[in-house]
Amino acid sequence: MENCIFCKIVKGEIPCDKVYEDEKVLAFLDIHPIKPGHTLVIPKKHFENFVSIDEEYLLPMIQAAKKIVPAIIKSVRATAFNFTTANGAEAGQSVFHLHFHIIPRFSKSELKDWPEMEGEQMTRIQIAEDIRQIYHKLFT
Ligand code: AMP
Ligand code: ZN
Repeated sequence: MENCIFCKIVKGEIPCDKVYEDEKVLAFLDIHPIKPGHTLVIPKKHFENFVSIDEEYLLPMIQAAKKIVPAIIKSVRATAFNFTTANGAEAGQSVFHLHFHIIPRFSKSELKDWPEMEGEQMTRIQIAEDIRQIYHKLFT
């Protein structure tokens, strides 16, 4: 992807603070960290999100993330971490090249609660039924 900032990092056109690299995966520090050690894990090939990525890249990404986490935690002396990914602008995705955030955490008090959902229109039973039906149509 021509104008993708993470593709440029992969190609070495933009510098990064690299923490890990293998044939298919790159991990580097976030330029605007939420916490010290905040790391991004990306596939070296451009995929927009968690759904469009090929399994061939997804599995190495997850395996790499699992191995990097203990090193990050130890290096910044964190006690916990968040493992998140924003998919789509409404979810907060700002770089449209899939990435996992690894965010070290140090204290429970720094976390805000999830906001309550406003005015649920469908019951959970109905939503679960819909998801099962759509999943079945898509994948079975
Ligand atoms: P998201 O908002 O979930 O799409 O996350 C994108 C992340 O990429 C943000 O946390 C940015 O701070 C980070 N970011 C953007 N440009 C760079 C860069 N050149 N090097 C490192 N991190 C970056
Ligand atoms: Zn890209």
